[in-house]
Amino acid sequence: MPELRYNIISREWVVIATERAKRPKDFIRAKKEEKVLPEYKENCPFCPGNEKMTPAETFRLGDEKAWRVRSVYNLYGALSSQEKLERKNLGITISMSGFGNHEVIIEHPRHNTLIALMSDQEVQDIIRTYQQRYRVIQKISGIEAIIIFKNHGPGAGTSLEHPHSQLIATPIVPPQIRSRIERAIDYFDLTGKCIFCQTLQEELKAGVRIVLETDKFVSFLPYAGAAPFLMWIFPKRHSPSFSEINEEETRDLARNLKSTLQKLYYGLDNPDFNYTIRSIPVREKGTEYFHWYISIIPRLSQPAGFELGSGMFINTALPEEGAEFLRQVKGA
Ligand SMILES: [Zn+2]
Ligand SMILES: [Zn+2]
Repeated sequence: MPELRYNIISREWVVIATERAKRPKDFIRAKKEEKVLPEYKENCPFCPGNEKMTPAETFRLGDEKAWRVRSVYNLYGALSSQEKLERKNLGITISMSGFGNHEVIIEHPRHNTLIALMSDQEVQDIIRTYQQRYRVIQKISGIEAIIIFKNHGPGAGTSLEHPHSQLIATPIVPPQIRSRIERAIDYFDLTGKCIFCQTLQEELKAGVRIVLETDKFVSFLPYAGAAPFLMWIFPKRHSPSFSEINEEETRDLARNLKSTLQKLYYGLDNPDFNYTIRSIPVREKGTEYFHWYISIIPRLSQPAGFELGSGMFINTALPEEGAEFLRQVKGA
């Protein structure tokens, strides 16, 4: 029978459509012709030797000629630090200048690799770069929120093959982030507890939706996940801002993120996915009620009319079955 589940963190009602539930294996796409990618591509702006093809570099790990990770401004930035922060509120037309920041993080010199296939050390380099950019950009006056995300594959919004992530810093707190914070404050006021710490504690106790537990992080499928195999990675230590992650945590997160993505890669045959780091707005650090985390959304289903018309989602895979399936997927 179908069931409606409420996600207490996102405030979303999700229809778990058990009647139409597929077996986890049915989510593996029909084998499309796998393109074999070269290690290096002459006209790829992210490949070594083509550094001049990208806008200015903002950070680099490694030498100029033998870099490991680079971050650069986005060629077609959605927002720009060159703009002056300006608000125009004229009656019903409310607007702002396009002030902010938009960078691309080139994750690896090799054109044809993936986080799931990198060494732990290489993934840690990517996380260190995220953190360095976060820490620098949060100091820019007028920046309110920083969103780090990755689009993998055409179904997730990218056609660029070279492994990369992005960072967008906004001059406002995005409404979805604000809504999660308000929910977390309500919960804290009612119970005196962090809703995320509490969720993690209960998920660990139940065990059925856990995918992977490492020393400092836990990946799991939320009880009311809005999409098949949607996963969250929570740090075990209460911390509102991703910027406060310590060295030991970057090492453990690298291990957890890589293994979690490896389970998708091997278990569901390299599906398209997005992930995003959800962190407290930069001026609201140090709170007891918010807890940063990573959300991974495999793009295995397409939100359609009902979702657009209601903001409610239909998930055709039972989170408990998805978690069990992924737990059993072995890495390389
Ligand atoms: Zn490339
Ligand atoms: Zn917490």
